Amino acid sequence: SASIEAEQALDAKIVELDRANQKLKQYISSNSELEKFAYVASHDLREPLRTIIGFTQIINKRHREDLQEDARQYLDLILSASQHMYQLVQDLLQYSRVSNESMELQNLSPQQLLERLRVDMKEMLQSKGGSIQLGALPSQIRAHETGLYRVFLNLTTNAFKFSRKEVAPEVEIRGIEKNDHWHFSVRDNGIGIAPRHHEQIFLLFNRLHAKTDSEGSGLGLPICSKIIDRHHGNIWLESKEGQGSTFHFTIAKSIAVSYD
Ligand code: ADP
Repeated sequence: SASIEAEQALDAKIVELDRANQKLKQYISSNSELEKFAYVASHDLREPLRTIIGFTQIINKRHREDLQEDARQYLDLILSASQHMYQLVQDLLQYSRVSNESMELQNLSPQQLLERLRVDMKEMLQSKGGSIQLGALPSQIRAHETGLYRVFLNLTTNAFKFSRKEVAPEVEIRGIEKNDHWHFSVRDNGIGIAPRHHEQIFLLFNRLHAKTDSEGSGLGLPICSKIIDRHHGNIWLESKEGQGSTFHFTIAKSIAVSYD
């Protein structure tokens, strides 16, 4: 009878597991529905937004002189709010693209990718001063090029955005080979992040310094985290308030050649 009891207990467990499985399936499907929704919505919102921005710019150009001072101010507000909204929609689209589009992997040189990044960030470098140093890097890795570029771009842009007022931003990027993955780091000498916020900043729309910068969307790090997820890696940081931050991430060596 002990074995009958054990069998009954096992049956009960199987039923329980089945139920949990069912719930998980529902959760996954509603999650991917939501992601598809975000993708379609952000994609389709761009068109009407472009129209709003375009016509506001035309009014601004052709009719600004005919307007009273308060109307000019309203026009400026409409323009900056709609441009900010466009940026948010773009970032949201980027975010949902990471899950909804296939990613081809290719062999690439991190050094070349980062030299391109340095050129693309020239404006930021000129306006803020400071530098982007490249440390030791692996000569070749297998990754999704646009995705990896986006990760470095977001981390480096943040390093410049959240720099200390009196200190020119210094960013150092390096990467080393480990057993089964590559390990990269992006270190800055900026304002730093208190440890209690370290997990929260990877969640959607979480911004700690919203007031100092109206440009951000709070999607930069969640986008990085998703891209790294698709490379079977991890992303985390070391930082204390006022002492700069180092963002680390890994990329698995053995990701399938191409994956959807
Ligand atoms: P955004 O930059 O658009 O605000 P992110 O997801 O890239 O959104 O970053 C979330 C928040 O994390 C930022 O608003 C900022 O408060 C904090 N943060 C990110 N990177 C850094 C950094 N290098 N130094 C200090 N704070 C940072």
